[in-house]
Amino acid sequence: MKMIFLGPPGSGKGTQAKMISVRLGIPQVSTGDMLRSAVREGTPMGLKAKAMMDSGALVADEVVVGIVQERLAKVDCESGFILDGFPRTVPQADALQACLRGLGKDLDVVISLEVDKDAVVERITGRRTCRDCGKMFHVRLDPPTQENICDVCGGELCLRDDDREATIRKRLEVYAEQTAPLIDYYQRFNLVQTIDGMQDISQVQDQILMAMGGK
Ligand code: ADP
Ligand code: ADP
Ligand code: ZN
Repeated sequence: MKMIFLGPPGSGKGTQAKMISVRLGIPQVSTGDMLRSAVREGTPMGLKAKAMMDSGALVADEVVVGIVQERLAKVDCESGFILDGFPRTVPQADALQACLRGLGKDLDVVISLEVDKDAVVERITGRRTCRDCGKMFHVRLDPPTQENICDVCGGELCLRDDDREATIRKRLEVYAEQTAPLIDYYQRFNLVQTIDGMQDISQVQDQILMAMGGK
């Protein structure tokens, strides 16, 4: 299964992609996670990316396309992958088409998660991410058993640097301008399955699995 998760910040892409990844045994390819690990490692690319990420803008297409090309060529992506947070612009989508053509692969489905604007601000301001394993929680909507401690690995839960209200507004604008057009882009290939992301995490998951069933 080769799939893309599309949706505004806070729509549940990461949460759902992680669950599908475990269920199907295919990797979650999250450009946000890969960029954050480059930031943590302090690579030159990471340092440049951090300024863009903290302002709520997108990192340059060439940078993310390069990261994804390298990742998709790895052997664990052979039987499938879940792209989470990529592509985010039309040039990225064009580059992905070219990359997949080169690898002799085709996309199976694009899952488009739809959510209300107010809900995403609430979701993102309450989002906490495990520093060690990346698992996501929400202080109210999906709390860990023990406050600030990851249920999976015991790691410390952190607020992302860009999950602050002013930056969130900017990220939502960037989404509407640069990423939302990709829904039409993939509709032309008849790949889009729209899912109501306002439901419970498990209901959203069921709907995604159902939407994938026909693929
Ligand atoms: P994205 O990757 O699209 O930015 P996340 O998966 O990180 O979104 O979800 C954002 C926050 O909302 C997280 O704290 C997550 O626990 C919570 N969340 C995700 N899906 C739902 C849902 N269906 N209902 C309530 N909260 C959710
Ligand atoms: P969210 O899940 O909340 O939408 P991500 O973790 O996917 O956030 O992305 C966080 C930030 O990383 C983005 O605001 C952007 O600066 C950068 N980023 C992630 N993926 C891409 C991409 N495909 N193109 C450009 N920038 C990206
Ligand atoms: Zn953890």
